[in-house]
Formats: sequence, structure tokens, C-alpha cells
Amino acid sequence: MIRLLYAVSIIGKVIAIGVYSFSPWLAAAFFFGPDLFLLHQLFVPSAQGLGRVYTHFSTTRREVWLTIDDGPDGEDTPRILDLLDRHGARATFFVIGERVTRHPELVSEILRRGHNVAHHTQTHPIYTFWCASPARVGRELDDGLETLRQAGATPHFFRPPVGTKNFFLQTALAARNLACVSWSIRSRDAIARDPAPVVARVLKSVRPGAIILMHEGVGVHPRVRVVAIAGVLEGLQARGFACVLPPPADLRPT
Ligand SMILES: [Zn+2]
Repeated sequence: MIRLLYAVSIIGKVIAIGVYSFSPWLAAAFFFGPDLFLLHQLFVPSAQGLGRVYTHFSTTRREVWLTIDDGPDGEDTPRILDLLDRHGARATFFVIGERVTRHPELVSEILRRGHNVAHHTQTHPIYTFWCASPARVGRELDDGLETLRQAGATPHFFRPPVGTKNFFLQTALAARNLACVSWSIRSRDAIARDPAPVVARVLKSVRPGAIILMHEGVGVHPRVRVVAIAGVLEGLQARGFACVLPPPADLRPT
């Protein structure tokens, strides 16, 4: 993967040398353009250049899709499930295979309570997923699928760690009948130290068909864990928004 990116970047720079005497602006475009394009496609979660990524869904009602990443978590997941019940809300849990291995019973509980379980890799390689080889991408997907299968779930949706893409991801997902799901609203709960701005950010941007990204588990600050999700659920209910599981046919890319 890294060699492919290197080749695209170098080819642009070689062309830049060739066209410099003719147009410095064209040379600059060839010199920097491929790098900017690659950066955008790999690291902007909504970018569609490396394959279809769903960022919202089509609806005429006040409905949103609440998605909760990085679980399951022995402390947070049961509390979140109780909150969802209290608000009559549905959510999709994008779970990490290694964490499912520790709490497979939580996957069955999520499904039993009427929610959905989706694939968020086996090991959650935040820093290396963008440059992972086809074999590594395949391993992340297959190990996660097997872990989920043993826990009783067959996922149809996948979300890469922090939304980073990879050149081989789309082919690998298609072969496994998985669709890539990003988000419309990033709550930034994983980097917040106070739940109030997290809740305010989500409610400020909420609109019908939005996909909301939130997190659970040890990666979230103790003051924000579960509390931010509780605040978002309350705020959505007060504004007349229902948290639903949208039919796959209603999902839309940007
Ligand atoms: Zn994650």
C-alpha cells in the first residue's frame, strides 16, 4: 500500500519537473495535487473516491441513526441499553472484535433488546489502517466477522477506525457483503472532558436522516462516558427526533 501511494506521489513530481518551464502553476498542481488528493481520500471520512461511504439516510420524518463505536464495554453497554429502552430509542453498536471476545454476552443482549451490531475491525488499528496491506485488511475483516459470528451476530455494516480509508478496503468489503458507514455528525465525545459541549454540538447539527457518531468505553473521559449519550437522547426526544435503524436501501453517500 505504502509503495502504491509513494508511486502516485513520485509520478506527480516527475511530471512537475517536465512541465515547470512551461507553467509553474501546472507544475505546482502536479507536485502537490496527488498528495492532497490522497490525503483527502484516505483521511476525510466522507470522501467517496475510494468507494461508497454512507453519510446519511433518506427520510421525511424527524428520524436519526444513533451509532455507538468502540464497545462493547462491561460497564457502559448495559447502562446505554437501559437509557435506550427508557427513550424508546434504537441504536447500532459498531463493536471491536477483541472487545467482543471479552464480552460476547453483550452482543446477544444488544440484539435481544432490538438494536443492531456492526463491524468496527478486530483490533481497531487507528494509526496503521490507512496503509495496511490487502492481507491485513482482509484479516481485520475476517477475524471480526468470525468473532461476531461466534457471538451470534452477522453484521452488514462496517466502519473503519476513526473513518480512515484504505485503497483495498472497498473490494474487501464488497467480497464480504459489508457496506461502509461514516456519519453526518461527529460528537467529538472521545476527545471531550465535559459532556455539555458534546450534547450541544450534536443537537445544533441534528436534522432528519443524520447519522450521529458517539463512543463508549475506556477511550471516553470518565465525566463524558454514558452521560453524553444520555444528554443527546434527552435532547433528541425534546426536539421530537426518533432514533431508528434505517433500512439499508435508504442509506445515502454524500
Ligand atoms: Zn473506533
